Parts: sequence; structure tokens; C-alpha cells
Amino acid sequence: ELVNLNELFTYILDRFDMMIKNETGEGHEKRPKNYSIKREFTQRDLWVEIDPDKFIQVIDNIMNNAIKYSPDGGVITCRLVETHDHVLLSISDQGLGIPKKDLGRIFDRFFRVDKARSRAQGGTGLGLAISREVIEMHNGRIWVESLEGKGSTFYITLPYEEYGEEDLWNEDQG
Ligand code: ATP
Ligand code: MG
Repeated sequence: ELVNLNELFTYILDRFDMMIKNETGEGHEKRPKNYSIKREFTQRDLWVEIDPDKFIQVIDNIMNNAIKYSPDGGVITCRLVETHDHVLLSISDQGLGIPKKDLGRIFDRFFRVDKARSRAQGGTGLGLAISREVIEMHNGRIWVESLEGKGSTFYITLPYEEYGEEDLWNEDQG
């Protein structure tokens, strides 16, 4: 499916923004962690060929990780830009970061950094393995840069479709 990535990414992040705003903390055993999302998007519409439900699953996991492995009040920066033939998307957190020795393994099935730390947070260690599968299935790439104690940035590139549906329609008419 040809998807407008600006719209889809916006839709996903709006849901994360809503989770913060709707949460008053009243009547909850434990107040969810607070966080804020900063968006740096290109103005230009970027079209990619992708299964939107699978893409949502990937971004949900990376966002949930960013929240889970960050201190309260962390800022998550989400970027969307184009290179000459690719779309580049990144999600940066100010969290725990990932030890250098584990960087090569976090996309492996069931791998979790420091079992004790991870167990307390919940999860199975499958999220990033599934994310990599989905992105590579769409001829994209996914990788991470991280500094322990500073934070992590997850990058995704996807092949960029020069024309969106609207452009093709206009060309037909013209
Ligand atoms: P699941 O996603 O299946 O619920 P999970 O979040 O533990 O479980 P992954 O999403 O695959 O699994 O992440 C694998 C491991 O990589 C995590 O357990 C965590 O140790 C580390 N990790 C992932 N994202 C971050 C991040 N943003 N900051 C620090 N560590 C991270
Ligand atoms: Mg996860």
C-alpha cells in the first residue's frame, strides 16, 4: 500500500501524545511515566510502499521502548526527512542507553539488556526482532546508535516513492 508517511507517523505520535494528556493519575495504582514528544518533520509529503498496520507495530514498539527505558519527564525526539532516494525516520530518547557490547544483539529474538533491569520493565524481547523483520521485508534498514547513560536513537530508512497517489492523479488529469 502506498502510504503518506508524514500522515501515518503523525497519527501514531498523536496517540502517544493523547496517552499523556488523558492521564490525570487519579484512580490509578501507578501514574504512568511522563514524557514529551518533539517532532521535526519535513514539510514535504513522503510516500512509501508499506503495510500501515505493520509500520504502526514497529513505531509503537520503538516509542514504548523509548518511554520504558527513560527516566520520568524524558524528551523523545522524532524526525522525518528525505535523502535523495530514501526516507529517514529517527526516534531519540534521553534514557538509559544500551551498553556497547550489547548493541549488536538488541535486534535478536528474546535478547534483553541486563535481565534484572529488563524483567522489572516487562516485555518479551521480541519487539525489535519483529521490527527488523517488518522493515527488511519492505526493503528498508533499521539500526541504533546509543551511548550508555545518555540515550538511544533508532533509525529507519525506507525506499522513497517519487510520486504519491495525488501526484499520479493530477498527471492523469493534466
Ligand atoms: P517487547 O518489545 O517484546 O515487549 P522488550 O521491549 O524488552 O520486549 P525489544 O523491544 O526487542 O524487547 O528490545 C530489546 C531490548 O533492547 C530491551 O529489553 C532493552 O534492554 C533494549 N532496548 C530497546 N530499546 C531501548 C531504549 N530505547 N533504551 C535502552 N534500551 C533499549
Ligand atoms: Mg519493546
